[in-house]
Amino acid sequence: MVYDLIIIGGGPAGLSAAIYALRARLNLILIEKMAVGGQIALSDNIENYPGFPSLSGIELIQKFEEHAKGLGLNIIYDEVKDITYGEEYKIIRGVNETYQAKTVIITVGASPKRLNIPGEREFTGRGVSYCATCDGPFFKDEDIAVIGGGDTAVKEANYLTKIVKSIVLIHRRKEFRAEKIIQERLHNAKNASFELEHTPISINGTKTVESVTIENVKTKERKTIPVKGVFIFIGIKPQTSFLKNIEKDENGFIKTDHYTLMTSMPGVFCAGDAHSKKLLQVATAVGEGALAATSAIEFTCDIC
Ligand SMILES: Cc1cc2nc3c(=O)[nH]c(=O)nc-3n(C[C@H](O)[C@H](O)[C@H](O)COP(=O)(O)OP(=O)(O)OC[C@H]3O[C@@H](n4cnc5c(N)ncnc54)[C@H](O)[C@@H]3O)c2cc1C
Repeated sequence: MVYDLIIIGGGPAGLSAAIYALRARLNLILIEKMAVGGQIALSDNIENYPGFPSLSGIELIQKFEEHAKGLGLNIIYDEVKDITYGEEYKIIRGVNETYQAKTVIITVGASPKRLNIPGEREFTGRGVSYCATCDGPFFKDEDIAVIGGGDTAVKEANYLTKIVKSIVLIHRRKEFRAEKIIQERLHNAKNASFELEHTPISINGTKTVESVTIENVKTKERKTIPVKGVFIFIGIKPQTSFLKNIEKDENGFIKTDHYTLMTSMPGVFCAGDAHSKKLLQVATAVGEGALAATSAIEFTCDIC
């Protein structure tokens, strides 16, 4: 069976691409390695997606999924390991099966970056977390640390202030990069304090996390803060290491022609957080999903 289109990844970008391509009546499948939803399913509250002033990540992605399934989306659960050229079509090699398609849209998104400091790996799941919604409730009435200064760190810190006893936000710079509106909210929270111009050096404990040691970026002075949890939000890395034949930037994000979102492999497009660009958000992911699908529809017609 040769599909018109295979979409790899079932996050916001993949579901948006599916909606556009299904409405053009392409014969397609979406391949997802885990559960449909992607990273946004990890977020407690989305406040910057137009039309929905406040809803959870799960509620938003369920709306996307229902919309796509209502148009007949066929989701295959498999992990894609490679994309190569066949004689006529692209060959998509999954763990369970090999698939063929005229066009492909890569929407594999990203996963959290690690600090790579002592104690991080050892205490992951025992005090170290990358998901406030999933693990925040385990730290009810405890003191915790949040690491990072971007939108995700400040937004998730805000959410955690409502659950935990106190949070200390540790950020290596003097200023935050996060949206001003969420910074203001965090500054107003009575149980939030800040360790700016500090980086974490180690996460310490015996069976579970007991403290975090931080270092002043200028004076190099160190101190240890007692905490029961450390939530790390220092950015993301694209899940693209399996793609050997497609051009990427120095950080592994996929490069495309910005007009059509075509990658260095003709007929293969990329959208969402895996794509090299400035803003990694749901709004940009769904916009790019729509654009990549439109380009794939045109490409399919050019070769039909
Ligand atoms: C905690 C948190 C809070 C956030 N809050 C906001 C917010 O408030 N507002 C906002 O706009 N954005 C927010 N974001 C960012 C937003 O979630 C992302 O920009 C968006 O999810 C990107 O969508 P995507 O479809 O490109 O990728 P993803 O959501 O990462 O989805 C990629 C999908 O591809 C699948 N996949 C990966 N590799 C393979 C493979 N080899 N084979 C098959 N499937 C594969 C993954 O399992 C995943 O389901 C937040 C992110 C996080 C982590």
